Parts: sequence; structure tokens; C-alpha cells
Amino acid sequence: MVSGKPTYEDLEKKLGDLENEAHQRIKLMEELEAVQQDYSETTQQMEMAIERANQMAAEAEVANLEFSQIFNTVTDAIWVIDKQQKVLRINKAFSTMIQKNESEVIGRQCSEILNNPLCNSPACPMQAVMKTRKSLELDTDICTGNGQTTPFLLTATPFLGFEGKPMGILAIFKDITERKHMEAELQKANRELTRLTVIDGLTQIANRRHFDNTLQKEWNRMSRESDWLSLILCDVDFFKRYNDTNGHQMGDECLKQVALCIAENAKRSGDLAARYGGEEFAVILPGTDSAGAGVVAEKIRQGIENLKIPHVSSAVCPHVTLSLGVTSIKLPEDNASRESLLSLSDEALYLAKEQGRNRWIIKNSG
Ligand code: GH3
Ligand code: MG
Ligand code: MG
Repeated sequence: MVSGKPTYEDLEKKLGDLENEAHQRIKLMEELEAVQQDYSETTQQMEMAIERANQMAAEAEVANLEFSQIFNTVTDAIWVIDKQQKVLRINKAFSTMIQKNESEVIGRQCSEILNNPLCNSPACPMQAVMKTRKSLELDTDICTGNGQTTPFLLTATPFLGFEGKPMGILAIFKDITERKHMEAELQKANRELTRLTVIDGLTQIANRRHFDNTLQKEWNRMSRESDWLSLILCDVDFFKRYNDTNGHQMGDECLKQVALCIAENAKRSGDLAARYGGEEFAVILPGTDSAGAGVVAEKIRQGIENLKIPHVSSAVCPHVTLSLGVTSIKLPEDNASRESLLSLSDEALYLAKEQGRNRWIIKNSG
């Protein structure tokens, strides 16, 4: 076959081939377009995801910044420790409290940082919180950086991570020096208040109210124990004259000395010396019989005389003296009462005055 002009069949075949090729190209173009479409959607999604991630990172940074500022601005000392009790984080107040900077503290065992008797003991609050997973609060003394021991309120609470899992402990140390000081002041004021309700303002021995309460208490106690109860009433001799001669102020000073002397001679546990009223004093002697009460009465009488407080207007002695009425009762006793004990002592005192003063008389019941 001689080559020459293409035949009709040749042209038709070529045309067919070209048509096929054109179809394939169109198909490829369509596929390419679809891929491009996919790609642009993915790119768009990726851009959006990146933007969201950036936004979240920025928000996290702001939150961290806010947290750091709050963490370091609070005046209470705070630390965060991990499960192995290694320090993860401390705030500025903590750093100031122990006078150490962060680098000296972070990563170290918490017991190495605080010089506290609870550390490494079964009462360690950090271990307790880890074990119970519950918060606790306690007062504890901490040796601060300046070598001083300061009282703190420690609030330790589990530090929870994602899904509420305990990651360690967050502990807050609040300086309670002021509170402790106020508590001590309050205690002191309460003690003073209690003292004032039982102490006589002038003589500083028990007052009448305390005497009445004690007599009732000891009456009951001695009745239960079937024991003796003695009472001594004391009265300064010619005290009106003492005042008239020396003035009221000297009279007050004299009463203070007399009270002290009486109290010094009634010192057994349970004994009570009280100001009964004016220039009269009373002594309660639980577990003391008549003979014992006589011994105490004589010691008091002698003690007052030995004070040698000048009393120029006394008709019995150049010094201040006492007359005393003593009563003893073996309890329990039918038909006896505290009132009868007091009135018997009063009668005995009257007799002591009548018989010449500066003496003691015993008058027993029955
Ligand atoms: P007697 O020997 O009989 O006990 O005579 P007296 O003068 O001691 O007794 P009287 O009851 O006549 O007087 C008691 C005096 O005690 C009267 C009062 O001025 C004085 N007196 C009472 N309480 C106080 C006080 O708190 N301070 C002073 N300075 N005197 C007081
Ligand atoms: Mg009197
Ligand atoms: Mg008197």
C-alpha cells in the first residue's frame, strides 16, 4: 500500500481518538476541580482550627496571667505540692514567709522547707489530706525566715487535676498572730472578770459571794464524806475607834494587812479566808475538827497581834487585835444547817467580845 492521502476511515478513527481524548480531559478537569474544591474546604477548616487553637492559647495565657497575679497578690502564703510531697509552686507571700526564693524551694521535699514538728510525723497534715482526700484546718507554729516562731492557720486541701483526680495538695498558711493575741487578751480579761466576781476589791481575798458559795459547797462535800466542817468568824476590835483616830484611809490599809494575815494562816487545800463584811472576816476549814479549828484561830489571833499595828484608842491592847468565834460540826447532822453554823460562830464571837476581846471562843452545836 502506497502512503498518500488519509482515507476517510483514517480520518474517522482519528476523530474518534480525538473525541475520546477530549472526553478524558474533561473528566480529568472535573476530577481536578473536585480535588481543588476538597482542598480549599480542608484548608478553610484547618485555618479555622488554627485560629481557634490560637484563641484558646491566648485565653489560656490571659487566664494564667490572671491566676499568677492573684496567686502572688494574696497576702496568705500558698504552696502546691505533688503526690510525692515535692513543692510544685509557691507564691510571693510564701517566699516572704520563709525568706527563701522560688528556686530554693521548687522541687524540694516539703518537710525540708518548713521547720515544723508535724513534719515526718504520723500527724503530718499533708499526708492526712493525701490519705483522706479531705480538706483540713489546724493551727500550727511555723519558724519563719527571721528565726521567729509565728502562729498560722493551715488550710490544706486536695489539689485536683483533670477528671477530679488528686494530683497533690494545695495549702494556705494564714498568719494568725493578731487573732492569737486577741484570744490571749480575751482570756486575760475573762480571768480578770472571774477574779473580780470572787475577790474583794479592797483586801484582795475572797469576797462574801465566794464565801457563801464555798460554804454551801463544803457543807455538801463534808456531808457526803461524813467529815468535820469548821467556821471561824473574826472581827477587828474597836475598829470604829481606829478609823476615828487614824482616818479611813489608814483603816483601809489596816484591813488589808489583817486580811493577808488571816489568809496566810488558813492555807490548807480547801481552806478559805474571806471578807465577810466591813471589818469582819470568815474562815472555812473543811475536814478540820474543833481542836484543829482552835489551833487555826489562835494562830490568826497571835498573827494579828504580832503585826503590831498601833491602835492607841483600843481599850484592850496598844495594837490592833481580833476577836474570833469558832464552830465545828461533824456532818451530816440532823437539824443542822449552814445558818446554824453561822449563828453559832456569831454567838461565840459575841462571847469573845464580852469576855475581853483579843481572844477566841469555841461554841459547838448540840
Ligand atoms: P468591836 O470591838 O465591838 O468590834 O467594835 P468596833 O468598833 O470594831 O465595831 P463597830 O461595829 O462598832 O464598828 C466597825 C467599824 O468598822 C465601823 C466602820 O467605820 C469600820 N469599817 C467597816 N468597813 C470598813 C472599811 O471598808 N474600811 C474602813 N476603813 N473601815 C471600815
Ligand atoms: Mg463588826
Ligand atoms: Mg469590830
